[in-house]
Amino acid sequence: MEEDKSGNSLPSVGSDAKKRTVSYFYEPTIGDYSYGAGHLMKPQRIRMAHSLIVDYNLVSHMNICDPSPAAPADIAKFHSDDYVKFLSSVSPESLSRDDVKRFNVGRDDCPVFDGLFEFCQASAGGSIGAAAVLNENKDGNGIALNWAGGLHHAKKCEASGFCYVNDIVLGILELLKVHPRVLYVDIDVHHGDGVEEAFFSTDRVMTVSFHKFGNYFPRTGHLKDIGVGAGKNYALNVPLDDGIDDDSFRGLFRPIIQKVMEVYQPSAVVLQCGADSLSGDRLGCFNLSIKGHAYCLRYLRSFNVPLMVLGGGGYTIRNVARCWCYETAVAVGLEEPKNELPEKNDYIEYFGPDYILHYQISNMENKNSPRDLEKLRNRLLERVSKMQHAPSVPFQETPPTTEPPEEEEEDMDEGQKCRIRDATDGEFYMSD
Ligand SMILES: [Zn+2]
Repeated sequence: MEEDKSGNSLPSVGSDAKKRTVSYFYEPTIGDYSYGAGHLMKPQRIRMAHSLIVDYNLVSHMNICDPSPAAPADIAKFHSDDYVKFLSSVSPESLSRDDVKRFNVGRDDCPVFDGLFEFCQASAGGSIGAAAVLNENKDGNGIALNWAGGLHHAKKCEASGFCYVNDIVLGILELLKVHPRVLYVDIDVHHGDGVEEAFFSTDRVMTVSFHKFGNYFPRTGHLKDIGVGAGKNYALNVPLDDGIDDDSFRGLFRPIIQKVMEVYQPSAVVLQCGADSLSGDRLGCFNLSIKGHAYCLRYLRSFNVPLMVLGGGGYTIRNVARCWCYETAVAVGLEEPKNELPEKNDYIEYFGPDYILHYQISNMENKNSPRDLEKLRNRLLERVSKMQHAPSVPFQETPPTTEPPEEEEEDMDEGQKCRIRDATDGEFYMSD
Protein backbone atom coordinates (compact mmCIF):
# COMPACT_ATOMS: atom_id res chain seq x y z
CA MET A 1 0.00 0.00 0.00
CA GLU A 2 1.27 3.43 -0.91
CA GLU A 3 1.90 5.77 1.95
CA ASP A 4 -0.98 8.13 2.41
CA LYS A 5 0.06 11.48 3.81
CA SER A 6 -3.45 12.90 3.84
CA GLY A 7 -3.83 11.86 7.44
CA ASN A 8 -6.87 9.67 7.10
CA SER A 9 -6.01 6.38 5.44
CA LEU A 10 -6.69 4.32 8.53
CA PRO A 11 -10.28 5.33 9.16
CA SER A 12 -11.11 6.93 5.80
CA VAL A 13 -14.62 5.63 5.58
CA GLY A 14 -17.88 7.52 5.45
CA SER A 15 -17.80 11.12 6.44
CA ASP A 16 -14.24 11.06 7.77
CA ALA A 17 -12.59 11.99 4.53
CA LYS A 18 -10.85 15.17 5.56
CA LYS A 19 -7.38 15.80 6.86
CA ARG A 20 -7.39 16.31 10.58
CA THR A 21 -5.09 18.47 12.64
CA VAL A 22 -3.86 16.40 15.57
CA SER A 23 -2.39 18.09 18.66
CA TYR A 24 -0.51 15.92 21.10
CA PHE A 25 -0.05 17.14 24.69
CA TYR A 26 2.88 15.63 26.52
CA GLU A 27 4.67 16.86 29.61
CA PRO A 28 8.21 15.39 29.41
CA THR A 29 8.57 14.88 33.18
CA ILE A 30 5.20 13.14 33.65
CA GLY A 31 6.85 9.70 33.84
CA ASP A 32 9.03 10.78 36.76
CA TYR A 33 6.14 11.05 39.21
CA SER A 34 5.46 8.07 41.41
CA TYR A 35 2.47 7.24 43.59
CA GLY A 36 4.90 5.16 45.66
CA ALA A 37 6.51 1.74 45.38
CA GLY A 38 3.94 -0.96 44.78
CA HIS A 39 1.11 1.42 43.84
CA LEU A 40 -0.79 0.19 40.79
CA MET A 41 -1.04 3.60 39.15
CA LYS A 42 2.23 4.25 37.36
CA PRO A 43 2.68 7.55 35.52
CA GLN A 44 5.64 5.88 33.83
CA ARG A 45 3.17 4.18 31.46
CA ILE A 46 2.59 7.58 29.81
CA ARG A 47 6.31 7.92 29.09
CA MET A 48 6.38 4.34 27.78
CA ALA A 49 3.50 5.13 25.44
CA HIS A 50 5.29 8.31 24.36
CA SER A 51 8.47 6.41 23.69
CA LEU A 52 6.63 4.05 21.33
CA ILE A 53 4.84 7.00 19.72
CA VAL A 54 8.24 8.58 19.02
CA ASP A 55 9.77 5.34 17.72
CA TYR A 56 6.84 4.71 15.39
CA ASN A 57 7.46 8.24 14.10
CA LEU A 58 3.92 9.34 14.87
CA VAL A 59 5.15 12.64 16.27
CA SER A 60 5.98 13.96 12.81
CA HIS A 61 2.26 13.85 11.98
CA MET A 62 1.11 15.86 14.99
CA ASN A 63 1.59 19.25 16.60
CA ILE A 64 3.53 18.50 19.76
CA CYS A 65 2.39 20.64 22.67
CA ASP A 66 4.03 20.95 26.05
CA PRO A 67 1.06 21.77 28.30
CA SER A 68 1.13 24.81 30.58
CA PRO A 69 0.55 23.65 34.13
CA ALA A 70 -3.02 24.38 35.20
CA ALA A 71 -2.98 27.23 37.71
CA PRO A 72 -4.80 26.81 41.03
CA ALA A 73 -7.47 29.25 39.76
CA ASP A 74 -7.99 27.04 36.67
CA ILE A 75 -8.40 23.97 38.84
CA ALA A 76 -10.81 25.86 41.10
CA LYS A 77 -13.18 26.26 38.17
CA PHE A 78 -14.46 22.83 39.17
CA HIS A 79 -12.85 21.96 42.49
CA SER A 80 -13.58 23.73 45.76
CA ASP A 81 -11.15 26.41 46.89
CA ASP A 82 -10.26 24.64 50.12
CA TYR A 83 -9.52 21.40 48.29
CA VAL A 84 -7.29 23.17 45.75
CA LYS A 85 -5.52 25.01 48.53
CA PHE A 86 -4.96 21.73 50.35
CA LEU A 87 -3.65 19.93 47.23
CA SER A 88 -1.30 22.78 46.36
CA SER A 89 0.30 22.83 49.79
CA VAL A 90 0.14 19.29 51.14
CA SER A 91 3.29 17.26 51.78
CA PRO A 92 3.74 13.84 53.37
CA GLU A 93 4.96 15.67 56.51
CA SER A 94 2.12 18.19 56.75
CA LEU A 95 -0.75 15.76 56.18
CA SER A 96 -3.15 15.60 59.13
CA ARG A 97 -5.77 13.01 60.01
CA ASP A 98 -8.46 15.61 59.44
CA ASP A 99 -7.19 16.19 55.91
CA VAL A 100 -7.27 12.47 55.17
CA LYS A 101 -10.88 12.27 56.30
CA ARG A 102 -11.96 15.46 54.63
CA PHE A 103 -10.28 15.14 51.24
CA ASN A 104 -9.73 11.37 50.98
CA VAL A 105 -6.05 12.02 50.30
CA GLY A 106 -3.37 10.12 52.20
CA ARG A 107 -4.92 6.66 52.12
CA ASP A 108 -3.61 3.80 49.96
CA ASP A 109 -5.60 4.67 46.82
CA CYS A 110 -4.76 8.35 46.78
CA PRO A 111 -1.48 8.80 48.63
CA VAL A 112 0.40 12.04 49.09
CA PHE A 113 3.59 11.81 47.03
CA ASP A 114 6.38 14.14 46.01
CA GLY A 115 5.23 16.50 43.30
CA LEU A 116 1.57 15.50 43.66
CA PHE A 117 0.26 18.96 42.79
CA GLU A 118 2.64 19.41 39.85
CA PHE A 119 1.46 16.05 38.54
CA CYS A 120 -2.17 17.21 38.78
CA GLN A 121 -1.27 20.52 37.12
CA ALA A 122 0.38 18.72 34.21
CA SER A 123 -2.51 16.33 33.71
CA ALA A 124 -5.16 19.07 33.96
CA GLY A 125 -3.07 21.54 31.96
CA GLY A 126 -2.99 19.02 29.10
CA SER A 127 -6.75 18.60 28.99
CA ILE A 128 -7.49 22.31 29.34
CA GLY A 129 -4.89 23.01 26.65
CA ALA A 130 -6.38 20.31 24.43
CA ALA A 131 -9.81 21.95 24.77
CA ALA A 132 -8.38 25.39 23.99
CA VAL A 133 -6.68 24.07 20.84
CA LEU A 134 -9.91 22.43 19.69
CA ASN A 135 -11.82 25.66 20.38
CA GLU A 136 -9.38 27.56 18.19
CA ASN A 137 -9.11 25.01 15.38
CA LYS A 138 -10.40 26.74 12.26
CA ASP A 139 -11.37 23.57 10.40
CA GLY A 140 -13.69 22.69 13.27
CA ASN A 141 -12.64 19.04 13.31
CA GLY A 142 -9.35 18.99 15.22
CA ILE A 143 -8.20 16.11 17.38
CA ALA A 144 -6.28 16.65 20.63
CA LEU A 145 -4.64 13.92 22.70
CA ASN A 146 -3.61 13.98 26.35
CA TRP A 147 -2.68 10.53 27.64
CA ALA A 148 -1.89 12.03 31.06
CA GLY A 149 -5.55 13.03 31.36
CA GLY A 150 -8.72 11.02 31.83
CA LEU A 151 -8.71 11.00 35.64
CA HIS A 152 -12.46 10.54 35.83
CA HIS A 153 -13.04 9.68 39.51
CA ALA A 154 -11.89 12.97 41.08
CA LYS A 155 -14.72 14.85 42.80
CA LYS A 156 -15.24 18.53 43.44
CA CYS A 157 -14.03 18.36 47.06
CA GLU A 158 -12.16 15.08 47.26
CA ALA A 159 -9.86 12.59 45.61
CA SER A 160 -11.05 9.13 44.56
CA GLY A 161 -9.68 6.05 42.81
CA PHE A 162 -6.14 7.33 42.07
CA CYS A 163 -7.59 10.65 40.80
CA TYR A 164 -7.12 14.01 42.53
CA VAL A 165 -7.98 16.64 39.93
CA ASN A 166 -10.65 15.97 37.34
CA ASP A 167 -8.91 17.15 34.18
CA ILE A 168 -11.87 15.91 32.12
CA VAL A 169 -14.40 18.18 33.81
CA LEU A 170 -11.97 21.09 33.46
CA GLY A 171 -11.42 20.31 29.77
CA ILE A 172 -15.15 20.05 29.13
CA LEU A 173 -15.78 23.38 30.93
CA GLU A 174 -13.26 24.92 28.54
CA LEU A 175 -15.03 23.37 25.52
CA LEU A 176 -18.36 24.74 26.78
CA LYS A 177 -17.07 28.27 26.24
CA VAL A 178 -17.53 27.66 22.54
CA HIS A 179 -19.59 24.51 22.16
CA PRO A 180 -23.29 24.32 22.96
CA ARG A 181 -23.23 20.56 23.51
CA VAL A 182 -20.37 18.24 24.46
CA LEU A 183 -20.56 14.45 24.43
CA TYR A 184 -18.39 12.56 26.92
CA VAL A 185 -17.74 8.86 26.26
CA ASP A 186 -15.90 6.69 28.79
CA ILE A 187 -14.55 3.20 27.98
CA ASP A 188 -12.49 2.70 31.14
CA VAL A 189 -13.52 -0.51 32.94
CA HIS A 190 -14.65 1.68 35.85
CA HIS A 191 -17.69 3.96 35.81
CA GLY A 192 -16.88 7.58 34.92
CA ASP A 193 -18.50 8.79 38.15
CA GLY A 194 -16.72 12.12 38.67
CA VAL A 195 -17.61 13.41 35.22
CA GLU A 196 -21.16 12.11 35.35
CA GLU A 197 -21.71 13.74 38.73
CA ALA A 198 -20.32 17.10 37.60
CA PHE A 199 -22.74 17.30 34.68
CA PHE A 200 -25.64 15.27 36.07
CA SER A 201 -28.04 18.20 36.01
CA THR A 202 -27.28 19.79 32.65
CA ASP A 203 -28.19 18.95 29.06
CA ARG A 204 -25.10 20.74 27.76
CA VAL A 205 -22.97 17.70 28.48
CA MET A 206 -24.12 14.18 27.78
CA THR A 207 -22.13 11.44 29.51
CA VAL A 208 -22.03 7.86 28.26
CA SER A 209 -20.06 5.32 30.31
CA PHE A 210 -19.41 1.66 29.44
CA HIS A 211 -18.18 -0.14 32.55
CA LYS A 212 -18.15 -3.20 34.74
CA PHE A 213 -21.08 -3.00 37.14
CA GLY A 214 -21.79 -5.08 40.21
CA ASN A 215 -19.61 -5.25 43.31
CA TYR A 216 -16.95 -3.18 41.61
CA PHE A 217 -15.40 0.23 42.20
CA PRO A 218 -16.87 2.88 42.33
CA ARG A 219 -20.20 1.01 42.55
CA THR A 220 -22.10 3.67 40.63
CA GLY A 221 -23.24 3.71 36.99
CA HIS A 222 -26.52 1.82 37.28
CA LEU A 223 -28.60 1.56 34.12
CA LYS A 224 -31.30 3.55 35.89
CA ASP A 225 -29.07 6.54 36.64
CA ILE A 226 -30.02 8.94 33.89
CA GLY A 227 -29.43 12.48 35.18
CA VAL A 228 -31.64 14.95 37.03
CA GLY A 229 -33.48 18.20 36.28
CA ALA A 230 -32.41 19.66 32.95
CA GLY A 231 -29.88 16.84 32.75
CA LYS A 232 -32.48 14.09 32.89
CA ASN A 233 -31.77 11.55 30.13
CA TYR A 234 -28.37 13.12 29.41
CA ALA A 235 -26.45 10.56 31.44
CA LEU A 236 -26.30 7.10 29.91
CA ASN A 237 -24.86 4.08 31.71
CA VAL A 238 -23.98 0.80 30.06
CA PRO A 239 -23.38 -1.70 32.89
CA LEU A 240 -21.44 -4.78 31.81
CA ASP A 241 -20.20 -8.03 33.28
CA ASP A 242 -16.77 -9.68 33.25
CA GLY A 243 -15.03 -10.87 30.13
CA ILE A 244 -16.69 -8.70 27.49
CA ASP A 245 -14.92 -9.20 24.17
CA ASP A 246 -14.45 -7.06 21.06
CA ASP A 247 -17.55 -8.26 19.20
CA SER A 248 -19.89 -7.87 22.17
CA PHE A 249 -18.49 -4.46 23.03
CA ARG A 250 -18.71 -3.18 19.47
CA GLY A 251 -22.25 -4.56 19.21
CA LEU A 252 -23.25 -2.12 21.94
CA PHE A 253 -20.88 0.76 21.31
CA ARG A 254 -21.62 1.31 17.65
CA PRO A 255 -25.43 1.44 17.67
CA ILE A 256 -25.59 3.38 20.94
CA ILE A 257 -23.03 5.99 19.92
CA GLN A 258 -24.53 6.25 16.44
CA LYS A 259 -27.93 6.99 17.96
CA VAL A 260 -26.49 9.43 20.50
CA MET A 261 -24.62 11.32 17.77
CA GLU A 262 -27.77 11.45 15.66
CA VAL A 263 -30.08 12.60 18.42
CA TYR A 264 -27.84 14.71 20.67
CA GLN A 265 -25.72 16.22 17.89
CA PRO A 266 -22.76 17.26 20.02
CA SER A 267 -20.45 19.88 18.57
CA ALA A 268 -17.46 18.35 20.38
CA VAL A 269 -16.67 14.90 21.77
CA VAL A 270 -14.40 13.83 24.62
CA LEU A 271 -13.32 10.18 24.73
CA GLN A 272 -11.78 8.74 27.88
CA CYS A 273 -9.68 5.77 26.74
CA GLY A 274 -9.01 4.08 30.08
CA ALA A 275 -6.90 1.05 29.16
CA ASP A 276 -7.94 -1.08 32.14
CA SER A 277 -10.73 -2.44 29.92
CA LEU A 278 -8.05 -4.32 27.95
CA SER A 279 -7.57 -8.04 28.30
CA GLY A 280 -5.04 -8.96 30.98
CA ASP A 281 -5.27 -5.73 32.99
CA ARG A 282 -4.11 -6.07 36.60
CA LEU A 283 -7.29 -4.42 37.92
CA GLY A 284 -9.76 -4.81 35.07
CA CYS A 285 -11.96 -7.76 34.17
CA PHE A 286 -12.83 -7.14 30.51
CA ASN A 287 -11.31 -8.95 27.56
CA LEU A 288 -10.85 -6.34 24.85
CA SER A 289 -7.97 -6.48 22.38
CA ILE A 290 -6.14 -3.28 21.50
CA LYS A 291 -7.97 -3.17 18.17
CA GLY A 292 -11.31 -3.68 19.91
CA HIS A 293 -10.51 -0.85 22.32
CA ALA A 294 -9.28 1.41 19.54
CA TYR A 295 -12.42 0.74 17.54
CA CYS A 296 -14.21 3.19 19.85
CA LEU A 297 -11.81 5.97 18.90
CA ARG A 298 -11.90 5.01 15.23
CA TYR A 299 -15.69 5.13 15.23
CA LEU A 300 -15.97 8.45 17.06
CA ARG A 301 -13.31 9.92 14.80
CA SER A 302 -15.44 9.08 11.78
CA PHE A 303 -18.04 11.69 12.76
CA ASN A 304 -15.59 14.45 11.93
CA VAL A 305 -16.32 16.65 14.96
CA PRO A 306 -13.68 18.11 17.32
CA LEU A 307 -12.42 15.24 19.40
CA MET A 308 -10.47 15.22 22.66
CA VAL A 309 -8.84 11.89 23.44
CA LEU A 310 -7.71 11.20 27.00
CA GLY A 311 -6.06 8.40 28.96
CA GLY A 312 -7.41 7.05 32.23
CA GLY A 313 -6.93 3.76 34.05
CA GLY A 314 -4.63 1.00 32.86
CA TYR A 315 -2.51 -1.12 35.18
CA THR A 316 -0.65 -3.63 33.05
CA ILE A 317 1.62 -0.89 31.86
CA ARG A 318 3.17 -2.63 28.85
CA ASN A 319 -0.35 -3.03 27.41
CA VAL A 320 -1.33 0.54 28.26
CA ALA A 321 1.70 1.78 26.32
CA ARG A 322 0.86 -0.48 23.36
CA CYS A 323 -2.76 0.62 23.37
CA TRP A 324 -2.20 4.37 23.56
CA CYS A 325 0.51 4.19 20.92
CA TYR A 326 -1.85 2.34 18.58
CA GLU A 327 -4.65 4.77 19.36
CA THR A 328 -2.35 7.67 18.58
CA ALA A 329 -1.83 6.07 15.15
CA VAL A 330 -5.59 5.77 14.74
CA ALA A 331 -6.06 9.41 15.74
CA VAL A 332 -3.44 10.54 13.25
CA GLY A 333 -4.95 8.34 10.58
CA LEU A 334 -1.83 6.60 9.35
CA GLU A 335 -1.59 3.14 7.92
CA GLU A 336 -1.56 0.24 10.32
CA PRO A 337 1.64 0.50 12.32
CA LYS A 338 3.99 -2.49 12.13
CA ASN A 339 3.10 -5.21 14.63
CA GLU A 340 6.77 -5.73 15.50
CA LEU A 341 7.73 -3.14 18.07
CA PRO A 342 10.69 -0.89 17.24
CA GLU A 343 13.77 -2.78 18.42
CA LYS A 344 15.58 0.28 19.68
CA ASN A 345 12.74 1.28 22.00
CA ASP A 346 13.87 2.29 25.49
CA TYR A 347 11.38 -0.06 27.12
CA ILE A 348 11.67 -2.97 24.70
CA GLU A 349 12.39 -5.45 27.50
CA TYR A 350 8.88 -4.84 28.89
CA PHE A 351 7.29 -6.27 25.76
CA GLY A 352 8.80 -9.74 25.71
CA PRO A 353 8.56 -12.51 24.85
CA ASP A 354 6.73 -11.47 21.65
CA TYR A 355 7.81 -7.85 21.23
CA ILE A 356 4.64 -7.07 19.27
CA LEU A 357 1.95 -4.39 19.45
CA HIS A 358 -1.13 -6.61 19.26
CA TYR A 359 -0.71 -9.12 22.07
CA GLN A 360 -2.94 -12.16 22.41
CA ILE A 361 -6.10 -11.71 24.51
CA SER A 362 -7.00 -14.26 27.19
CA ASN A 363 -9.52 -17.08 26.88
CA MET A 364 -11.61 -15.88 29.83
CA GLU A 365 -15.33 -16.50 29.79
CA ASN A 366 -17.58 -13.72 28.49
CA LYS A 367 -20.25 -13.46 31.17
CA ASN A 368 -22.35 -11.10 29.05
CA SER A 369 -24.80 -13.35 27.24
CA PRO A 370 -25.98 -12.36 23.75
CA ARG A 371 -29.52 -12.20 25.11
CA ASP A 372 -28.62 -9.84 27.95
CA LEU A 373 -26.61 -7.66 25.60
CA GLU A 374 -29.48 -7.40 23.16
CA LYS A 375 -31.90 -6.46 25.92
CA LEU A 376 -29.49 -3.83 27.21
CA ARG A 377 -28.92 -2.40 23.74
CA ASN A 378 -32.62 -2.17 23.02
CA ARG A 379 -33.38 -0.47 26.33
CA LEU A 380 -30.65 2.10 25.82
CA LEU A 381 -31.54 2.76 22.19
CA GLU A 382 -35.16 3.27 23.15
CA ARG A 383 -34.16 5.75 25.80
CA VAL A 384 -31.92 7.72 23.46
CA SER A 385 -34.63 7.78 20.79
CA LYS A 386 -36.93 9.53 23.24
CA MET A 387 -34.43 12.26 24.06
CA GLN A 388 -35.02 15.75 22.79
CA HIS A 389 -33.11 16.27 19.56
CA ALA A 390 -30.12 18.60 19.83
CA PRO A 391 -31.29 20.45 22.93
CA SER A 392 -30.33 24.05 22.43
CA VAL A 393 -29.18 25.89 25.45
CA PRO A 394 -29.25 29.67 25.45
CA PHE A 395 -25.76 30.94 25.96
CA GLN A 396 -26.64 33.06 28.98
CA GLU A 397 -26.86 29.77 30.84
CA THR A 398 -23.19 29.10 30.17
CA PRO A 399 -21.69 28.15 33.51
CA PRO A 400 -20.20 31.19 35.18
CA THR A 401 -17.10 29.14 35.88
CA THR A 402 -16.09 29.10 32.22
CA GLU A 403 -15.93 32.86 31.87
CA PRO A 404 -12.47 34.35 31.89
CA PRO A 405 -11.72 35.41 35.43
CA GLU A 406 -10.58 38.97 34.63
CA GLU A 407 -11.92 41.62 36.92
CA GLU A 408 -13.66 39.01 38.96
CA GLU A 409 -10.54 37.83 40.62
CA GLU A 410 -11.48 39.32 43.96
CA ASP A 411 -14.90 37.89 44.41
CA MET A 412 -13.79 34.56 42.94
CA ASP A 413 -12.22 33.44 46.16
CA GLU A 414 -15.16 34.04 48.38
CA GLY A 415 -17.93 33.89 45.87
CA GLN A 416 -17.01 30.73 44.06
CA LYS A 417 -18.25 28.33 46.68
CA CYS A 418 -21.75 29.68 46.43
CA ARG A 419 -21.70 30.09 42.71
CA ILE A 420 -20.61 26.56 41.95
CA ARG A 421 -23.10 24.47 43.78
CA ASP A 422 -22.48 20.88 44.51
CA ALA A 423 -22.85 19.11 41.22
CA THR A 424 -25.50 16.78 42.60
CA ASP A 425 -27.91 19.43 43.84
CA GLY A 426 -29.36 19.93 40.43
CA GLU A 427 -28.35 23.55 40.15
CA PHE A 428 -24.80 23.35 38.91
CA TYR A 429 -25.57 25.42 35.87
CA MET A 430 -28.13 27.82 37.18
CA SER A 431 -26.62 31.23 37.46
CA ASP A 432 -27.61 32.98 40.62
ZN1 LIG B 1 -10.38 2.44 35.61
